[in-house]
Amino acid sequence: MNDKRTIYALSSGLGRAGIAVIRVSGPKASETLIRLAGVLPLPRRAVLRRLVSFIDQGIIDQALVFWFPGPATATGEDVAEFHLHGSPAVVSKVFSELSDIDGVDPAEAGAFTRRAFDNGVLDLVEVEGLADLLSANTESQHRLAMRQFLGEASSVYEKWRGDLINVLALIDAAIDFVEEPDVVASAITQMIPAVRKLRVELEAALLQSSRANAVRDGLRLVIAGPPNVGKSSLLNWLAQRNAAIVSDQAGTTRDVVEAVVEFEGVRLVLADTAGLRINSTDEIEKIGMARAEAEIRDADILLWLTSPDVSSEVGPARVPDLLVVNKSDLIDEDSILNRNESSLSISLKTGSALDLLSKRLTHLISERSALTQDAVVVRDRHVVAVKKTIRKLNDVLDHPDLPVEVLAEELRDACRIMSSITGRIDVEDLLGRIFSEFCIGK
Ligand code: GDP
Repeated sequence: MNDKRTIYALSSGLGRAGIAVIRVSGPKASETLIRLAGVLPLPRRAVLRRLVSFIDQGIIDQALVFWFPGPATATGEDVAEFHLHGSPAVVSKVFSELSDIDGVDPAEAGAFTRRAFDNGVLDLVEVEGLADLLSANTESQHRLAMRQFLGEASSVYEKWRGDLINVLALIDAAIDFVEEPDVVASAITQMIPAVRKLRVELEAALLQSSRANAVRDGLRLVIAGPPNVGKSSLLNWLAQRNAAIVSDQAGTTRDVVEAVVEFEGVRLVLADTAGLRINSTDEIEKIGMARAEAEIRDADILLWLTSPDVSSEVGPARVPDLLVVNKSDLIDEDSILNRNESSLSISLKTGSALDLLSKRLTHLISERSALTQDAVVVRDRHVVAVKKTIRKLNDVLDHPDLPVEVLAEELRDACRIMSSITGRIDVEDLLGRIFSEFCIGK
């Protein structure tokens, strides 16, 4: 990529709209303003101007124009912005005027963000945060993305890298005294608790990361239980639409039926599973039951549903997060079943206690997503790097008696791996993949 070129793109959405924003970045940004608007506005001030064609002198639009001189801009370069009327004809006319200028070209996907990275405005974690922010649908995805984009996650990686550099400095200093075993031994004694502490922090971050991924991709709420207790009815009620088949014939749901909903700002993947019973002879139902068991194992939230008319019940393979007894309309209000403290008695038929079920679910979901709010390690790329760093730390902790030069090399590797997360070194191979997630104009 030649950074000397000036690039432009439509930064707002495509099609008819109230306003269309064209962004220009690079050394000729000021020239584009002077050519089309006839002035270079004061920095960061909106100016209303008639845009006149340089090619045929026709009036193109009346528009707001902005001048953002670099380096304190989104790309780190000079930036011009044209806030036009959102007509495809206006946009296309401005595009032809811009490409008529020598050295001004249409931007490729992600080119603006790539320049921001190259000019040190954003690091890789922030770039990824921006990609996540642009594709965030739910409140929790938005929150997680903002943390990455605003550099809060990057500062944690920088802190870890700083810790590693401190330990490395200690060991590097000892290399000069290899002839003096006491000096080396003392450096290693100082190093070990610091490395252990860092390992604990990295492991905790990894644990939190798996939860954060669930928020990014959607928390999986699995509804399981014996056949015919109302699992499909519950999924439908939760999804507020007929996503699953409801029938009074046992074993209707043979595969996993899914519905995606947004619940309390969290993306929730609801999964209705085949009813579990002991004496099934139907091969297809048995496959369905095996799938249900796998779902139960992998659920972020397991809701076990049963009902008073179930004769013999196969219990869940793990403790459910929520135990619900449906069909409360079939039993007396004072019945023993109704008084079970740990379970919630509802009726999908009459709507009894469904508000309570909603409340319990809200509580569970916000509990899960709260744990992920300050997650740092959110992408697979970060997880892999943190795991590799931990491996290097383990090598050091398991073999502190290795020659001090070897220990230093392990720690140097750990440092390099940590640096690759924010992308300050060793990143060329990563760049293409990360920037390809962006659209043109970002
Ligand atoms: P699943 O096999 O567990 O998915 O259960 P379904 O959702 O298919 O429901 C089984 C049967 O129970 C259907 O005939 C439903 O109409 C009925 N049912 C669901 N909820 C209730 C309830 O609260 N009370 C009563 N009496 N019947 C219900």
